[in-house]
Amino acid sequence: MDDYLKLLGAGAVTLGAVTTATAMYYLNRPKPIEQPVDIHHQSLEVPGKDRARVSCLCKNGKLVEYLEEDVRTLREAFQRGSRVSKNGPCLGWKPTPSTPYQWMSYSEALSRAGDLGCGLIKKGQQPVNSTHIGIYSQNRPEYVITEQGCYMFSMVLVPLYDTLGREACKFILNQAEISIVICDNNTKVQNLLNDKTALPLLHTLVVMEEPSQENLVKAMELKVTIMTFKQLEELGSQNPHEPVPAKPDDNCMVCYTSGTTGLPKGAMLTHAGLISIVVGCYLQVPFMNIGPDDIMISYLPLAHSYERLIEVYVYMFGGRIGFFQGDVRKLMDDIKELKPTLFPTVPRLLNRVYDKVMAQVNSSPIKKYIFNLALRKKEEELQRGIVRNDGFWDKLAFRKVAESLGGRIRLISTGSAPLSPSVLTFIRCVTGCVVLEGYGQTECHAIATLQVPGDHVAGNVGPPLTCNYIKLADVPDMNYFAADQKGEICIKGPNVFKGYLKDPKKTREALDDDGWLHTGDIGTWLPNGTLKIIDRKKHIFKLAQGEYIAPEKIENIYIRSQLVCQMYVHGDSLKACLIGVAVPDADTFPKFAKKSLGIMGTLESLAANPACKKAILEDITEVGKKAGLQSFEQVKDIYIYPEQFSVANGLLTPTLKSKRLELKKFFNTQIEDMYSRLT
Ligand code: AMP
Repeated sequence: MDDYLKLLGAGAVTLGAVTTATAMYYLNRPKPIEQPVDIHHQSLEVPGKDRARVSCLCKNGKLVEYLEEDVRTLREAFQRGSRVSKNGPCLGWKPTPSTPYQWMSYSEALSRAGDLGCGLIKKGQQPVNSTHIGIYSQNRPEYVITEQGCYMFSMVLVPLYDTLGREACKFILNQAEISIVICDNNTKVQNLLNDKTALPLLHTLVVMEEPSQENLVKAMELKVTIMTFKQLEELGSQNPHEPVPAKPDDNCMVCYTSGTTGLPKGAMLTHAGLISIVVGCYLQVPFMNIGPDDIMISYLPLAHSYERLIEVYVYMFGGRIGFFQGDVRKLMDDIKELKPTLFPTVPRLLNRVYDKVMAQVNSSPIKKYIFNLALRKKEEELQRGIVRNDGFWDKLAFRKVAESLGGRIRLISTGSAPLSPSVLTFIRCVTGCVVLEGYGQTECHAIATLQVPGDHVAGNVGPPLTCNYIKLADVPDMNYFAADQKGEICIKGPNVFKGYLKDPKKTREALDDDGWLHTGDIGTWLPNGTLKIIDRKKHIFKLAQGEYIAPEKIENIYIRSQLVCQMYVHGDSLKACLIGVAVPDADTFPKFAKKSLGIMGTLESLAANPACKKAILEDITEVGKKAGLQSFEQVKDIYIYPEQFSVANGLLTPTLKSKRLELKKFFNTQIEDMYSRLT
């Protein structure tokens, strides 16, 4: 009997413990993240609009342009940030590598912007929306000060950047009739001075560091004024001018896209356009309450609309922007010190995080086992809508990743190129924060869709933002039809750009008579109302690092090499480099091989010889270099195929154009092999 009572007692204790543990679990159990819409119904069809879809967040299908009547320009957004942060810290930078971040308040930034704007007017710039100011700089506080200075006087910013190339820079400065360029350093000033003879309008260069003696001498010879950023601010403060603030429909910047062939195109972006996207993003993540306590790390080029969008978001809600030191190699150190909460990024960087983490994990079987188990557990949580970074598995397996990002990140955004679903899910698991992918292009002010927090499924780019409709247009050549929910992605709304500066022809190619922007990307609607990118209309694509590639242009250059007669250049938006297939010239190549390499044999045997391959790769790279190809446009490996592409073997069209899809299929094994060795 005693035993029975003991057992009963023990049972009661155990039952009590279990009940307490269960109660504790239910009390502390992680809760699913708030979702702004039902993730199974994220967009809906708008009746009578060619199957166009709109976000379910739009009341009665009506697009949302702005949140507050008095916040419709980027200047008003900045002023709003100043109000909501109670003039809090706004722009952060490291004066030297060894000094900690310093912060400038909203009001100081606004006051310096005012001085800078007045300085520009004193230097002859008209306070009107057709005045274009060039900026050739890395991200830093002066960039934002310049922007705000322009907006205070209705002027428009025109960013220049190195990868545009010299010819494109000259073209932009002339087309946009720019007479003042603000540069961060002497090298950029020197670049512009070197081209001065081709830049008749350019008269003033402003530099953020002390001008070099060499530049001063050269500028004097060329009758160009060089002044420091500080001097321009001082000039403005001594010559005040009443603000002439930009209006919502005014341009805020002309964003030149490097293009692929031919000259760059200057997309005219407006204040209202950017505000509408910021509001669209906000409506998708309202519960995140981004505000004065948030810090974003700014390192993606401000010349690109994606970075600008996020900066506007941050300052509109009173957050802080901390700039990296300007050296990507030190980015991780900057992040560790800054401890940002917002991390805008691009697939290239996330792929690198993935590769690095996996290389470490795979170095030990135990690590690998625990890590993979942790990943599985985290994925299960994600499927239940739970987004957290303080669970058991986070502490056990992912702490180091979180620490390497400063330990405070709560939102990561990715865009500008596709990210593979597996890497996206991986990043969601290891960081434990909200990770959202957006899709769009410069011509719609950066993005048109954004994933919804809590929708764990990767492989879509989310529903339309609240500022635009999206429809899919038939592309009969490629067998895509809107009736099958597939086609070219077309966008309409306040975020669609006004057109390309002084280029009605290209504007007409992008914008149709009804105001739809034709993106050239092919998409399909998924059953939950999200969009998935499946193809591209033209043979133009982006590499993982976001650079545009026109493979045909590169092929046409490479075949100038004496050693090859045909080329197929292949790239993949999930990869960071190009590879190719070269067909050696049956006449010249054997002779070259014999003479220069001392190798003889049939074309087949030469094709299989690594020394021959090396020689061809070196030669085409040299030809590419001479023709001005950028390094990202050069193939990093090739496969030598001894037989010519022909109509008979199905690799050419009857008009002798490469059948790209067939070539890709035909050389799939070699392509995979080359990429596997390159990564
Ligand atoms: P840009 O105008 O430089 O921003 O480039 C826009 C182009 O990048 C689009 O037309 C797409 O081809 C590509 N792109 C941007 N975001 C994504 C994404 N999330 N997935 C796939 N492609 C993307």
